Amino acid sequence: MSDVSSELETWISNYCSLYGHDYFVEVSQEFIEDDFNLTGLSSIVPFYREALDMILDFEPETSIAVSDMALVQHSAELLFGLIHQRFILTKMGLQMMASKFEQKVFGVCPRYLCDGMHLLPVGTQDVPGLETVRLFCPCCADIYLPNSSRYLNIDGAFFGTTFPGMFMDKYPEVVNQAKLRGKQQFQLKLFGFKVNESSQVGPRMKWLRQVPKNEQERRDYEECAYAIKND
Ligand SMILES: [Zn+2]
Repeated sequence: MSDVSSELETWISNYCSLYGHDYFVEVSQEFIEDDFNLTGLSSIVPFYREALDMILDFEPETSIAVSDMALVQHSAELLFGLIHQRFILTKMGLQMMASKFEQKVFGVCPRYLCDGMHLLPVGTQDVPGLETVRLFCPCCADIYLPNSSRYLNIDGAFFGTTFPGMFMDKYPEVVNQAKLRGKQQFQLKLFGFKVNESSQVGPRMKWLRQVPKNEQERRDYEECAYAIKND
């Protein structure tokens, strides 16, 4: 008999192939089956057992009432998202996200001076139900809304606050790509002259994108930020 089981569509592969779900990677079955990876989730997700069985394509131990079916489906999506948040921080998850990053699945930075830097999905919260997914640019270190409305109901917690930091730690070449693009900043000019720093339209917020380049600048910054005298 040929191996039919591997060709069958699983709940996970089906969920990840739905419209607007292309930011998700398919979490491995082994990761979900390891209870350690699910620590704490049973207290957050209603119908936890049923939801877990659904994700893993197991027959439910007790049959689910038709009236509960929609709730269990919703719980399964929530549970999968929270597992996904953890999975993409693992070696395998990072690799799968890296291949999506390379293929520009998450899009490119809309800021002109970031020169098409590829984006990474991020949540501003780790708790579900608070904010939808945002996209982080490693070049300008800012976050953006996805440019298509199909992503506007994807919970940011399904990617989490840690992912981009972990990704750049694992793939320093991404940091280098961002560095190569430089930290160029737009400078408004009037007939070729810089606009005065104190002007309303002047570059007063320029420092927002500035980072200290050497030790002396870092010390100046720290003095400025933390050593304001009150007397
Ligand atoms: Zn950018």
